[in-house]
Amino acid sequence: MTFDGKNDFMLKIEHIGIAVKDLEASNKLFGQLLGSPHYKVESVASENVDTSFFQIGASKIELLHATNAESAIAKFIDKKGEGIHHIAFAVEDIEKEVERLKNEGFQAISDKPKPGADNKLVFFFHPKSTNGVLIELCQEMK
Ligand code: ZN
Repeated sequence: MTFDGKNDFMLKIEHIGIAVKDLEASNKLFGQLLGSPHYKVESVASENVDTSFFQIGASKIELLHATNAESAIAKFIDKKGEGIHHIAFAVEDIEKEVERLKNEGFQAISDKPKPGADNKLVFFFHPKSTNGVLIELCQEMK
């Protein structure tokens, strides 16, 4: 693959997801770090998480907090502690990108894109196939 400076597949790093134990404390901490407060808090009941978002230029920081022990975030923190949980890339056409990455041999975590936080369709690829980094694709829902 040659690189001409443009990328038709991944538009940008949409956000970096960070697993935290105490959302209120971390909202304060990241507000201090970034110099501006979070602009929204959103619960994703299907994933058992509360999220909060900070805007950094064209990208965001998404804090992830488990709402119960079944949450993937609770399991992540048990295993690895707080820290970077995933990197999310914005894509134009999530179905197409999911197909492309599956064909490239990346290990999908679910069958189909589904609604996530921040009005996005989301899909995840397993860290086993991506050097230990959980990868999220996300597409704005229209
Ligand atoms: Zn995310």
